[in-house]
Amino acid sequence: MSTIPASLPLRNDLIGEEPYGAPQLDVPVCLNVNENPYAPDPAVCDTIARRVREIAPTLNRYPDREHIELRRAFSTYLERESGVRLDVDELWGANGSNEIMLQLFQAFGGPGRIALGCDPTYSMYPEYARDTFTEWKLAHRNPDFTLNVERTIEAIHDVKPAMVLITSPNNPTGTPLDPADLKALLKACETADVAGAPEGVHPVLVVDEAYVEFRNPGTPSAVELIKDHPNLAVSRTMSKAFAFAGARVGYLAASRGIIDCVRIVRMPYHLSAVTQAAAIAAFEHTDEQLSRVSHLRETREATAAWLRAQTYKGQPLEVAQSESNFLLFGGHFDDRDAIFEELLKRGILIRVVGPDGWLRVCMGTDDEMAKFREGLAEVLRIVE
Ligand code: PMP
Repeated sequence: MSTIPASLPLRNDLIGEEPYGAPQLDVPVCLNVNENPYAPDPAVCDTIARRVREIAPTLNRYPDREHIELRRAFSTYLERESGVRLDVDELWGANGSNEIMLQLFQAFGGPGRIALGCDPTYSMYPEYARDTFTEWKLAHRNPDFTLNVERTIEAIHDVKPAMVLITSPNNPTGTPLDPADLKALLKACETADVAGAPEGVHPVLVVDEAYVEFRNPGTPSAVELIKDHPNLAVSRTMSKAFAFAGARVGYLAASRGIIDCVRIVRMPYHLSAVTQAAAIAAFEHTDEQLSRVSHLRETREATAAWLRAQTYKGQPLEVAQSESNFLLFGGHFDDRDAIFEELLKRGILIRVVGPDGWLRVCMGTDDEMAKFREGLAEVLRIVE
């Protein structure tokens, strides 16, 4: 129930809206927000504490607005992670990739502008659109959740969006973007018009790679194409594979032109000195921070196989192909809320998200996954 008095001049289009967010419940097994379940090791914690202690005496001053040292750390990390060397002025940080995305909408969206997404996809995109008065439109994915590239290209030419948003791997489905599809979309964006903009202006293609470190070996990242495509923006985060969600650090890899557009709309000093110091410290321990990623990938494959062997009302569960740290499963649950609630009663929190009939579970520790399997097997027996 809203506690907002009707006498407050809340924007008309926000009346009746609720704050977005997955439930934050204190339960033993939390598999609902796609975090890395493994805590930073003590050596990482010590470096973070030391780095923050070092800058503490400077906290009377504003932080480095351009966060140059951190942008250097993004560059070093991306070179190691994706084999692509980007310059500091092709990188940009913010408080989570949520803020990166909002800044992109602030720079390229706005009244009279359209953003195009491919559903099912990340549920925050329509909120960034709402908050920046950008119209939000959708081109639908195929039934197996792969991108329908012909339909999307058709929509790019029809709708004339200022921004095209592709999530790869996609949330909530885990689906990776085919590299040939990415190239075809870039080609379409490089010739399409933008509603509300002068001739010669073309859409920005935003690839949201929040989960990209979980991709299978050999799957390329979109950052490889940045040097050749000035309209490509790739959003990344330290929140997922990098096990740093609590620090709130996301970053953007793009042409210098796109970074300069975003710099116009950013709040001055948006990244605190404490955040910058903590993130630089964590990057000193990249090996430790990423050490569980391959295990989480194996957990995903093992869990997918286990789920496919379970049945609901006589039919095996479906599992969407995933290159992420979560799985969308079910496909034909008549009442997914009931399954969610039964799991919750057993102390297991997953997520009701995506198309009806499906549920999403994120990969936890071995112990958490054992509890999930035990809980779900029991729940499936009850609901049969
Ligand atoms: N993009 C996608 C696809 C996500 O799933 C999330 C987090 N759930 C984000 C962006 C935002 O993550 P953060 O702000 O923690 O970087």
